[in-house]
Amino acid sequence: MVSDFFVNICILTALFFSYLQLRWHSLEKHLPLKAICLIDGVAAGIMGNLMMYYSIQVTDLTIVDLRHVPVLMILLISGVRPAVIATILIIAGRFLYGFNLSSVAAIIFMIVTLAGIIVINRMRKSHQPRYISGFYMIFYSNLVFSVVLSVIVRDWSLLETLLPVYWVISCLGGVGIIYLIQYLDRSHSLFKSYEQKASIDHLTGLNNVRQFDFHWNQQLEESEKKKKELSLLIIDVDHFKHVNDTYGHPAGDQVLKQLGRLLQEHTRGTDIVSRNGGEEFSVILPDCSNSCACAIAERIRSEVMSHTFWINATSHIPITVSIGASTYPSTTEDRQEIIDLTDQSLYQAKQLGRNRVVSFTAGGFVQADHRTYSI
Ligand code: GH3
Ligand code: MG
Ligand code: MG
Repeated sequence: MVSDFFVNICILTALFFSYLQLRWHSLEKHLPLKAICLIDGVAAGIMGNLMMYYSIQVTDLTIVDLRHVPVLMILLISGVRPAVIATILIIAGRFLYGFNLSSVAAIIFMIVTLAGIIVINRMRKSHQPRYISGFYMIFYSNLVFSVVLSVIVRDWSLLETLLPVYWVISCLGGVGIIYLIQYLDRSHSLFKSYEQKASIDHLTGLNNVRQFDFHWNQQLEESEKKKKELSLLIIDVDHFKHVNDTYGHPAGDQVLKQLGRLLQEHTRGTDIVSRNGGEEFSVILPDCSNSCACAIAERIRSEVMSHTFWINATSHIPITVSIGASTYPSTTEDRQEIIDLTDQSLYQAKQLGRNRVVSFTAGGFVQADHRTYSI
């Protein structure tokens, strides 16, 4: 009997571990939270049913197993709804093993257990580790189980050996699994937060250059696949060194933060704004022709010029930017060359006197704003 329970615990640990890998590395990336909750419930329900499949036959009609443990594990990591779905699936599954007094008792056990563990979960304080609530839940469900089993088995010599083994295995195994799941869940959350920090520019909250590279390559693939144009703007603050030298580095940081916000406000939701380093920003414009990119760049340039950049509570300064633009595949079909050509366009904008937009088209560098034309 001990080895049967041990097998139950091992199977459950392996199943839950595998499911969490699937959830974190695939489901969370592609599905909304509601769908994930539903899948959580179904997965826990399947695990509960598998526990029944590997259950221990106690009498002709009664089987004992750890089918309720997946329910309380999913309650702890995903919430009430998935726990209810899992309970319904486990109750439905129990009828596959026959409809008799034991299966009715099993339903009562599952419902009373579910209600109790939901209450215990509600009472959990936010700072309390989950395996502590898990322990209370296991303790409670063991109590319910002991009462229900005693009522239907009524064979005291059997209960005398069965119940202590059940209590020890269920407490040690159940709390062990919950501790492991909590540990994995925390490591995963930390991993996610580090991953996010590694892709975000700490000053502006925009994508950093690493994330820019990722999006740029992804967007190039997309535009090739969908046969749509893709434009890139590189934006550089004019004479920014002068801002730092005159007003100090913290004032320069304030300007960069405000510029980051302004760029996000004046681009579309599908555009990807990044700070590529120092006072240089970029905007990836999916599904955007060269003339559309020049119009957006020109709008950004004039918005920056008229914007009030506050450097402290009382003073503000004017700022201008120069912008280089180019478009794939109309500017060049060479995917490697496109960033280079955008940089060269920016260089031309600086050479022409700054505060302007220059685009590289098939015909060469062209100033895109309304003041001067071909170079
Ligand atoms: P240009 O018009 O040719 O672009 O001139 P510029 O002065 O903007 O260009 P330059 O490359 O000479 O100077 C860029 C300055 O940006 C130098 C550096 O101190 C400043 N800078 C880079 N990163 C930061 C930052 O995170 N915060 C602040 N405040 N300044 C920064
Ligand atoms: Mg500059
Ligand atoms: Mg620069």
